[in-house]
Amino acid sequence: MELAVPTTALSAERARIAQDLEQYSIGAGRDRDRADRLGTGSDDAVATLEDELDEGVMDDLQANLDEVDAALSRIAAGSYGVCIDCGEAIPEKRLTALPASARCIECQRKQEHR
Ligand SMILES: [Zn+2]
Repeated sequence: MELAVPTTALSAERARIAQDLEQYSIGAGRDRDRADRLGTGSDDAVATLEDELDEGVMDDLQANLDEVDAALSRIAAGSYGVCIDCGEAIPEKRLTALPASARCIECQRKQEHR
């Protein structure tokens, strides 16, 4: 059976993440400018905390973007839907829920518990 490849869904997801990432990087830059203008003071701690939060979100977004990119290149390579660890087919239900899945549930679990 031929697997339905969700290229459109993944491309849309990619565009959405890229946009979020851009907004966060603009926001992070603005916060830093404000902190610079205010100079040293009690606001620094707040600005730093905000930056750290933004960076955490941006790291997550970047990781998501990388996952989606990897999924798109697996589609191009014809290896989409196959677990990158064990080489077994990833259940279609999992791919429908998470189109960017690189691993089967079993291997993903192992990966997260390492
Ligand atoms: Zn696997």
